[in-house]
Amino acid sequence: MATRFALIIEPTASDDTRSDFTSTLTQVDASAPALSVGELSTQRGDGIFESIGVVDAHPQEVTAHLERFVRSAEICDLPVPNVEQWRQAIAAAAALCGPGEWVIKTILSRGVEHGPTPTAWVTAADAPDFARPRREGVAVVTLDRGFSLDTPARAPWLLLGAKTLSYAVNMASLREAHKRGADDAVFVSSDGFVLEAPTASVILRFGDVFVTPEPTGGILHGTTQLSAFAWLEEQGYRTEYRDVRVDELGAADAAWLVSSVRLAAPITRIDETSAPVDHELTDALNAYLLSPRD
Ligand code: PLP
Repeated sequence: MATRFALIIEPTASDDTRSDFTSTLTQVDASAPALSVGELSTQRGDGIFESIGVVDAHPQEVTAHLERFVRSAEICDLPVPNVEQWRQAIAAAAALCGPGEWVIKTILSRGVEHGPTPTAWVTAADAPDFARPRREGVAVVTLDRGFSLDTPARAPWLLLGAKTLSYAVNMASLREAHKRGADDAVFVSSDGFVLEAPTASVILRFGDVFVTPEPTGGILHGTTQLSAFAWLEEQGYRTEYRDVRVDELGAADAAWLVSSVRLAAPITRIDETSAPVDHELTDALNAYLLSPRD
């Protein structure tokens, strides 16, 4: 996934009501150095981000991503992003994307230590080819996330509901999954509930009811899961947010990992046990997820 374009943003106050933010966006050479060595995003992973899927230059679900971006900033005590400014930055980056699938990242860092402002930028890269996991699915292992469902409420400083730049744990979990011969992981809480995957939300099907874990349990509220639930409801299915016990994973009629760029990947195996795959629904869901969505 090569980054092709980058725009540095001069972040402005969230209540700045100007209509045109073009003068605050500067395109820079994506292959040249652009950040100070004192950046807290690189030194401590202290910042937040969003990864937005782009299909044929249309950025998907921008509003939902920006809502989560604002929520992440609030959780991390970062200056609240000006939503209109970021919307225009995303539109400017999307205009640079060619046909096919791309990924735009919005990044807000705490900036340089004792510096005057946070650092902000947007990148656009071509997306990896995810045709195979979408069609053939992913084998997952369950991995202990090391906290219980009530931890986020007891310890908000863990920033569990924020999409922070600190993804070292998420990447380590993927490496552990690969070592165990799987493609991906499903995190479970220490008290035995399903959470999320390192880079995706989990959706389970029980008959005509689709279930996802409550996003209060220290997981991100996935924009793809939200969009998938809206589509499933339009198709006449019921959807439910609730606590999901780990043993329910194996009892589901089908299950998926869903995320903005890979979209819906059906789960084919959970630990040592094969899982049933609903190919027809997966294809229909991915066709919907690839259509322009706002
Ligand atoms: N959970 C985690 C930890 C993620 O990193 C992601 C996406 O990157 C998701 C869930 C799914 O979120 P979305 O559907 O908005 O991509």
